[in-house]
Amino acid sequence: MTNATHAHRLVKGIDKGKRIVVKIGSSLLVSEGDRAPRRDWLDAMADDLAAWRKRGREILVVSSGAIAIGRLPLGFDSTSLRLEECQAAAAAGQIRLAHAWQEALGRHSIAVAQVLLTLEDTEARRRYLNARTTLNTLLSLGAIPVINENDTVATEEIRFGDNDRLAARVAQMVSADTLVLLSDIDGLYTADPNRDAKAEHMEEIREITAAVEAMAGTPSLEHGTGGMVTKLQAARIAMAAGCRMVIANGHDFHPLQALEKGGRCTWFLPSAGPKQARKQWIEGGLRPSGNVTVDAGAVTALKDGRSLLPAGVTGVEGSFARGDAIIVKGPDGSEIGRGISAYSSDDAARILGRKSRDIEAILGYRGRDEMIHRDDLVLR
Ligand code: GLU
Repeated sequence: MTNATHAHRLVKGIDKGKRIVVKIGSSLLVSEGDRAPRRDWLDAMADDLAAWRKRGREILVVSSGAIAIGRLPLGFDSTSLRLEECQAAAAAGQIRLAHAWQEALGRHSIAVAQVLLTLEDTEARRRYLNARTTLNTLLSLGAIPVINENDTVATEEIRFGDNDRLAARVAQMVSADTLVLLSDIDGLYTADPNRDAKAEHMEEIREITAAVEAMAGTPSLEHGTGGMVTKLQAARIAMAAGCRMVIANGHDFHPLQALEKGGRCTWFLPSAGPKQARKQWIEGGLRPSGNVTVDAGAVTALKDGRSLLPAGVTGVEGSFARGDAIIVKGPDGSEIGRGISAYSSDDAARILGRKSRDIEAILGYRGRDEMIHRDDLVLR
C-alpha cells in the first residue's frame, strides 16, 4: 500500500470508510417509556446500513441495550441493579435485542449474525484469532455481525462494562478503517456543554493529549455507561490500530445519513492506516518465538506480495503457537521478514514442503492454506 493511499484514508468524512464498525448506545435503541427496542428508529438504521452495504461497505454493528431491554421481562424496577441482576437482565434482553436486529435487517434480506464477546476474547491470542477469523468470514459472506459484550458470563474483572471500548477492540480486531460511535451527544466539547455555556465543539482531534482528556471530565452516569471518558479510551485503542473514529449524535432517525451530509460530529484521526498499524505491531510489538526457513521460490513469491505457503517452507525452528510471531529466513539463513504463523511449530513441521490441499489429511483438520497470510507478513 502506498503512502498516498494512507494519506487518503486518514482524512475526515464517512465516504472514505470501507470497513466500518457502528456502535449504538442503549439510550438510542431502547425507548424510555416501555423499555423495548425503538422499532421505527431501528428500521431506519437498518435502511441506512443496507444502503451502505449495497455500496460495497463492510459493516459490523456493536449494539448495546440488552440490560435495558431485559429489565422489564424480569420485573426489575429499581434503577440500580447488582452485577448478577445486570447479567440476568442481559440474558433476557439479548434475545430480544438480537430478534429486533434480525427483523430490522431481515427486511433487506441481510443475514444477521450474533457475536457475544468478553474482554478475554479480545486479549487472549487464540480466542482473539478465532473471533477475528469468524468476523472476517461473516463479512466475506456479506453478513452483518451484531456484537455485544457477553454480559452473562463476564465477571467484574473481565468485563468491558462499556461498549465504547468493546467497539474499538472489534475495530482493531478486524482492521476496520472507521469506527462510528453513535450516542446522545454530537461529539467532544472543551467542557460539558450541559453545564458550561462557553463549551466549544471540537471538529477534529489528531492526538489524545492531557488537554483533550481534561475536556472529557469524569465519567458521568447521565450519558450511557461511561460518558465521554470511555469514548476517549475507545479513541485511543482505535487510533493505535490505525482506525479513524467519529462521535455523532444518533438520536434522530437516519444518523448515518446525517453524517454523510456533513452533520456535526468529532473526528479522531490517527496518523497511519490500519494496515500500516498492524504491520508496525507485527514488526515491533511482538517478540518472535521461532523461525521458518523458506526456499528461493518462496522468497520470490513473498517479494511479489504473496502469502507464505507450507510448500515453500524447508525448516521450522523454535516452539511457537498459532498466532505467534515468527521470523522468516531465506535459504542462506538471512532474515527476510516477520509474520504471524497460522500454525503451531509442531503442525508447521508436519506440513512443511507439502501442498496446501494435503493439510487436512496430514493434520486431521482443515486449517488455513497459508502458513503466513500476506496481511500478517512484513518483509525487511
Ligand atoms: N453490554 C451492555 C448492554 O447491552 C451495554 C454496555 C454499554 O452501555 O456500553 O446492555
